[in-house]
Order: sequence, then structure tokens, then C-alpha cells
Amino acid sequence: MTIRTRPTVLVFLDSPQRTVETVRPAVLELITLGRTLGRVDVVTLGAPTVEVLATLGAYGVHLVHQAQVPTSLPESSYRLTSVLASVLATAVRRNDADVLLVPSSFAGKEAAAVAAARLGSGLVVDASSLAWTGEPGAGDPAPLRLGKRVFAGTWTTVSTVASDPAVVTVRANTVVAEPAAVATEAVVEPLPVEVEAPRVTVVERTLKERAAGRPQLEEAAIVVAGGRGTNGDFGPVDDLADALGAAVGATRDAVFEGWFDRYIGQTGVTVAPRLYIGAGISGAPHHRGGMQASQVIVSVNNDPEAPIVEQSDFAVVGDLADVLPQAAAAIREHKAARA
Ligand SMILES: Cc1cc2nc3c(=O)[nH]c(=O)nc-3n(C[C@H](O)[C@H](O)[C@H](O)COP(=O)(O)OP(=O)(O)OC[C@H]3O[C@@H](n4cnc5c(N)ncnc54)[C@H](O)[C@@H]3O)c2cc1C
Repeated sequence: MTIRTRPTVLVFLDSPQRTVETVRPAVLELITLGRTLGRVDVVTLGAPTVEVLATLGAYGVHLVHQAQVPTSLPESSYRLTSVLASVLATAVRRNDADVLLVPSSFAGKEAAAVAAARLGSGLVVDASSLAWTGEPGAGDPAPLRLGKRVFAGTWTTVSTVASDPAVVTVRANTVVAEPAAVATEAVVEPLPVEVEAPRVTVVERTLKERAAGRPQLEEAAIVVAGGRGTNGDFGPVDDLADALGAAVGATRDAVFEGWFDRYIGQTGVTVAPRLYIGAGISGAPHHRGGMQASQVIVSVNNDPEAPIVEQSDFAVVGDLADVLPQAAAAIREHKAARA
């Protein structure tokens, strides 16, 4: 029986380069969440810059385990599941970590699953809440209790990971990232890792350009989406997104029309932002499946009978070409007044 005093939580700081130059908001959220569970260390493949170390310290991170992968390993293989899983499993074993938290990206989920299999750990993907079932230090191997939204956000399931360590991928926007009350001095520790020679070679990887300053759709805290009601003019959608610092998404029909490039829904991207604004979108079940887990849903539609109106926390009935620019102007005014 493991006597738990102060649990060790390892957070995966994903960075596909030899130098870690930024800490993504999703990772800061995991560190914030990790602090509620125990002492937080991070594991990464690259060398963190001084600025990154300062950020990690501000968030209360103690140690940064920097994987010492063979120098012969090309940077392009830093994204390969086999490499990431070896790093994660080694970091957990060497530090006797109780919990491994990984951002819920496609790569993160795959690597977490392989690492969990190698560790013989319990695995939960896409968790939206985490807490110990008992008091830390009570001397019992209290399991971790995890909430997870399923069936397009219509149900929340609760499960426990009874095996130690727990490997968990956590959805973006589960918590608000907040610096620690007491900052630490994050120290880098080398982590020797044996990595099998990858069986695949990454030949080319092309990053799609995102509008400058726009967050990634899957992890954005605010999403503004446009549908057929835009009639092909995504200008007001883009403008509102810029005013809010939001990501832009669309319905499949809008994408098939060639008006935008990424759609939300059962066969598209799943989003669970703190705020979703759907403009000119009817709320078809296929679309709903990808956004229903959003914390607050706002719709703008000129038809009060549109299904999305019923699904919304707030619905504005009107022409999006009138409503969105007014909303964007009001938000900019409000921000300017607070600046
Ligand atoms: C197998 C399959 C998989 C699918 N997967 C997906 C998926 O993953 N994601 C997805 O989105 N769809 C998906 N679809 C398509 C889906 O079923 C719907 O057809 C689609 O979501 C509808 O898109 P929409 O809301 O933009 O268009 P519509 O249903 O045509 O709705 C347009 C809305 O805009 C409103 N409107 C019109 N003019 C204005 C205006 N000026 N101002 C304000 N409102 C206005 C209308 O009242 C209407 O409610 C899938 C379909 C199939 C068959």
C-alpha cells in the first residue's frame, strides 16, 4: 500500500523544438489544476528558456525534467508517439509520480495512452475535473476522481483511477490558469531517456497559418462560429472574434461552401470553450455534437424557431450583419474604458 504524503503531479510541457520558448495556456491550466492535487513538476523534451522558467516558477513548478534524448534524434521526431510515450513513462517511473497530466490534443492523447499501457496505469482521456477522494496525507491510497463530459456534453460521467499512477489527459478550459500564491524557482533536471530508433521518418510537416494572434480552435476559451446565415461573409464573425480574442469556427455547410476552412461538429473539431457564439447557425445535431460541451452558448439567428435558440444560454434574434458589429463595438468600447 502506498502511503501518500504529498502527491507528485507531473505535467507534460509539450514543445516540438529543442528549445521551449513558450508555455501554452492549456499547459498553464494543467499546472494550476495540478497544484490542487499536489506538488507540480513538469516534463519536457526541449530546453526551457529563462522566460519559460520564470513563468513556470510563477505557477509554482518545482522541477523541470528535461529529457536527454539522443542528439541523433531529429527535431521532427519530437512529435512521434513512440518518442513522447518513452519520455512520459520514464519521467513517471523515475520520479515515482502519482499523477501524469497531459493536454488533450490528438498527439497528447495518443502518447498518454501508450505511456499508460507501458506503466500499467489507469488512463482517463478528456477529463474535465479532477480531485482526490480522500484527504492528502491521510495515509490511504485514495483514488483520483475524474469527471468527464460524454455524448456531446449531454452527460457527465465520474470515474476513479484506483491504480497508481494515474495518467490523465485534460480538456482545455477545464480551469482558469492562475499563478501560484507563492512563486517557486523552477530548476531544470536532466532526465536520461532511452528512446528506440523511431520506425517512421517525418518527411515534411506544414503548419497552417492562423490569423495573427488567434488562439487554436480546439483549445480556445472563446469561439465565434459562423454558418450558412453568414451567406459567405465571415467579416462580422472575424471582427467579433478579434474583439474578443477568440478563435473562429464554422459549420460543415459553411466549409463545404468554401467560406471557411475548419468546421465544428461530430465529424469535425470538438470544442468546449468557456463561451461559444454561433452566428447564422441552425443548431443541427451534427454541429451540436461538437460544441454542446461549451460552458456558455450564445446564438445569433434571425429565426426565433431555430433549434440553436433553444440550446442557447443567451439568444439574440436578429440579422447577424447588424448584431455582430454592434457586439464587437460594445466589447471594444468596454475594453478601452477598462484599459
Ligand atoms: C454525415 C453528416 C455529418 C455532418 N457533420 C457535421 C459536423 O460535424 N458539423 C456541422 O456543422 N455540420 C455537420 N453536418 C451538416 C449538418 O447536418 C447541418 O446541415 C449543418 O450543420 C447546417 O449548417 P448551418 O447551421 O450553417 O446551416 P443551416 O442549417 O442552413 O442554418 C442557417 C441558419 O442561419 C440562420 N440565418 C440565415 N440568415 C441569417 C442572418 N442574416 N442572420 C442570422 N441568422 C441567419 C437561419 O435562420 C438558419 O437557422 C453533417 C451532415 C451529415 C449528413
